[in-house]
Amino acid sequence: VDTTLPSAADVVVVGGGIIGAAIAYHLASARVGSVTLCEQGRPAGEGSTTRSAGLLRCHHTSHPLTRLAVRSLPAFRHWRGTVGGDCGYREVGFLMLVGPDHTGTLAVNARAVEECGGTSQVLGRDDLAALVPGVSLAGVGAAAYEPSGGYADPQFAARSLVVAARQLGVRVREGVRVTKLLTSGDRVTGVVTNVGKLPAGTVVLANGAWAGKVGRTVGVSLPVTARRIGLALVGTPARTRHRPPAALLAPLPACIDDTIGCYFRSDDAGLYFGVPSHPEVRLGRDVTPLRGGELSAARAAITTRIPALRGAPVLATRAGFDGYTPDRQPVIGWPGPEGLYVAAGMSGGGFKISPAVGELAAGEVAGGARHHLLDPFRPDRFTAGHPLDSDHRYVYS
Ligand SMILES: Cc1cc2nc3c(=O)[nH]c(=O)nc-3n(C[C@H](O)[C@H](O)[C@H](O)COP(=O)(O)OP(=O)(O)OC[C@H]3O[C@@H](n4cnc5c(N)ncnc54)[C@H](O)[C@@H]3O)c2cc1C
Repeated sequence: VDTTLPSAADVVVVGGGIIGAAIAYHLASARVGSVTLCEQGRPAGEGSTTRSAGLLRCHHTSHPLTRLAVRSLPAFRHWRGTVGGDCGYREVGFLMLVGPDHTGTLAVNARAVEECGGTSQVLGRDDLAALVPGVSLAGVGAAAYEPSGGYADPQFAARSLVVAARQLGVRVREGVRVTKLLTSGDRVTGVVTNVGKLPAGTVVLANGAWAGKVGRTVGVSLPVTARRIGLALVGTPARTRHRPPAALLAPLPACIDDTIGCYFRSDDAGLYFGVPSHPEVRLGRDVTPLRGGELSAARAAITTRIPALRGAPVLATRAGFDGYTPDRQPVIGWPGPEGLYVAAGMSGGGFKISPAVGELAAGEVAGGARHHLLDPFRPDRFTAGHPLDSDHRYVYS
């Protein structure tokens, strides 16, 4: 592993999760001078990306996110021919389930997907029962169905972006932690790392939950705090008697269930389900594993929706830190001082929008005009007293 630093870089990208990898890849594709990617982990991507469930959906209650998600989805489908490698995209479909009080709002949010160029159909209970016969519809009013949704593998995706970026000339430095930003006068001029200094024209903070910490080294206050999010896998190992019917697992669309606040997706290993996020004060490299109590509430919720999972064993759990902002939407742009750009605070949903964030943020860093799709996410919205809000919320989303 090469940890030697070049004498200088035009751009240093801090963080090799899906966002940093996508930005570095797009900078290199646009031939933007010399780019160095610093990732504290080895290999890259020891943050949220490696723990992510990888759900892909366009449906959001915040339509600025809908626009980024719709723009992103084709990138997962065409990954092999563009980035190269395999991002693990599985087009199993996506379902958003809501209660009877939210069917009108669901239609508005589904229409927003269509207006952005995506595909979303509103399904009533009869259509749903035919689509997902093993799923209980207790408490469900309607669903939005996206046939092109599903999931991909965030770790594979980030890895293939890093490989492609390296082939395009990006210096990828794994095991290199940025400890401080360098400044001269009122601009950021590079980074200090565990292996030395690296002067740079622009520094991009794409280091997820850690972005606030690095920003603070030069007095920049980024509205990003760490939360710990979990995922668990219930499965069907050959030797147990708990075997949900195969038909229940394999073809099941990825699903967010707003009526009970849970999400799940299935693959060959079994069914992954989300475990709610918690603020984490001890932000470190090693995230605390999920505890039994945290797991049991999420597991009970999932069993309500898929009764055949009752008694099925939990095979594995994992947890990761993600950066959260006060309005739970990313911060992307130039926070000041000059020379510093940020794309962090993905707030539990950064994977599905990463192709658009990577492309558009790289365009801005490369000197392009501000892109209107990123304007809602600017860092100064909090100091200006205009956090993002939505009129189209459900109970949990
Ligand atoms: C359990 C779980 C389930 C999820 N499910 C979904 C989902 O279904 N769909 C979806 O869209 N999103 C999901 N997410 C969220 C999504 O995975 C994240 O929003 C996204 O991966 C964030 O990417 P990132 O690159 O911003 O951050 P990260 O992946 O955390 O990357 C930041 C990187 O920066 C590195 N770093 C930090 N500080 C430094 C430093 N000082 N110097 C050098 N390197 C540094 C870290 O090691 C890390 O690799 C989930 C997340 C989790 C944890």
